[in-house]
Amino acid sequence: MATGPNRAAEEHVTALAETLTTPRVGECVFCFIDRMLDAFGCDTTLRWARRWRDLRLPRATGLEARLGRRGGFCDCEVFLNGWTVRPELLVPDQHGELDWPADRPPCPGVGPRSAQPCSTWVPLRRPW
Ligand SMILES: [Zn+2]
Ligand SMILES: [Zn+2]
Repeated sequence: MATGPNRAAEEHVTALAETLTTPRVGECVFCFIDRMLDAFGCDTTLRWARRWRDLRLPRATGLEARLGRRGGFCDCEVFLNGWTVRPELLVPDQHGELDWPADRPPCPGVGPRSAQPCSTWVPLRRPW
């Protein structure tokens, strides 16, 4: 039998996880994926993209296909292959190479019906 306090603790953790993995008001899908990857990593699926879609824009059924067209077949690939932080936001790392800022700017937001990236993100130029 599950005891009372344990049950309560489990429910608390579940509620906390729900809050932590809920898109912020106006937060675009890319800022959300970036934030979730930072906290929870990639499970080799588009689970964060899907979670954003399910919570924010269930009708955006083409989201995975759109990410996949740029090589984003899981959440981390969205940023490895598809999109990156816009150049003005990059900061030099310890080797002087431009890198993503450790703290991303807060999402400036997108419209309630938009599954597009906010102004933080630009399509990655492919080296080939
Ligand atoms: Zn991945
Ligand atoms: Zn954003």
